[in-house]
Amino acid sequence: MSGTTIFEVMSGLCRDLGAINLGQGFPDMAEPPEVIGAAQRALVERSNQYPPMRGLPELRGAVAGMYGVSADEVIVTSGATEALASAILALVRPGDEVICVQPLYDAYLPLVARAGGVARLVNLRPPAWSLDLEQLAGAITDKTRLIILNTPNNPTGTVLDRATLEGIGALAQRHGIYVLSDEVWEATVLDGGKPVSVLDIPSLRDRSVKVGSAGKIFSLTGWKIGWAVAAPELAERVAASHQFITFTTPTPLQWAVAEGLALGEAWFAAHRARYVESKARLVSGLTQAGFCVLPCAGTWFVTVDLADSGLPAQDEALAQRLVREAGVGSIPVSAFYADRPERGYLRLCHAKRGDTLDQAVERLAGFR
Ligand code: PMP
Ligand code: GLN
Repeated sequence: MSGTTIFEVMSGLCRDLGAINLGQGFPDMAEPPEVIGAAQRALVERSNQYPPMRGLPELRGAVAGMYGVSADEVIVTSGATEALASAILALVRPGDEVICVQPLYDAYLPLVARAGGVARLVNLRPPAWSLDLEQLAGAITDKTRLIILNTPNNPTGTVLDRATLEGIGALAQRHGIYVLSDEVWEATVLDGGKPVSVLDIPSLRDRSVKVGSAGKIFSLTGWKIGWAVAAPELAERVAASHQFITFTTPTPLQWAVAEGLALGEAWFAAHRARYVESKARLVSGLTQAGFCVLPCAGTWFVTVDLADSGLPAQDEALAQRLVREAGVGSIPVSAFYADRPERGYLRLCHAKRGDTLDQAVERLAGFR
């Protein structure tokens, strides 16, 4: 939990070594000129001063419209990361237990610890990366305060289905537990399906905080515009925490995201098609080169099973060798575990131009 995050470490190595960066999740394509143009106009024509603490009404309204909730329930934050921090610091008290599902995004455990909470870990089961409700129920104690979910999941791409979320809702209701659902990858399910949200589950609606990110929706990861959505009483508590973390989020970018969310379904379908193409290109290239790529419903990532690809199963050591010897950055999936996982996998980001992906595959094929 100490040290520098693997995303920063791997991107630094790629910069220093001139390697192709399929590690940290950011696109080198599909940045929407419509949304960037809206930010340029907003910088000149609109306010550059503090917006309201909970976000510009226009953006709160656009987010609320997208999810079918009330604008009072939306708090704009500086990236999903700040929404996660605000929610965890608002809900977790010293000594509370928090159930976290592995593999997990690397910000959760440090934030839980910072709030004085104690993490209880439950593992998704490969190869389908399914969540076992019995195992989850077994992790609940009288100290459990919060369950953190991530659907679609980074790094596996797994999407929790309605029955699983309903099962979690029943448990949460019975034991009086809150749920924090990190849904930043909601727009990246490439068959166009809309993943089920905690907001869609009646038993979870009033006890959940949903987190979203414009960085993912618009391929603009450096913008760091996110939001937390929750029923009014919970939203109030998240806002109380947010006001002393960042207080507000850059005004012109909020205008631009609000405009972007008004782009029609045809625009979003065309945007998604870029990723359908990039994913197919990376998966077919890797498969032809003999790598075993696991199925992945959402996110910008694919994962490679190392043992089934005939490679050494120590993913951290392999990622180091790949960046130095093959010139390709990747993320070892063990970085998403607090303890050592049973098997080694590498996560590769497909959100890149075709020529970037082809070159990376050629280098990886040459390494085998
Ligand atoms: N949660 C997950 C699961 C993520 O993958 C990421 C970023 N990739 C974030 C949160 C952070 O999003 P943001 O950049 O909007 O803070
Ligand atoms: N969420 C991005 C990823 O999973 C990176 C975020 C970060 O660098 N902290 O690659």
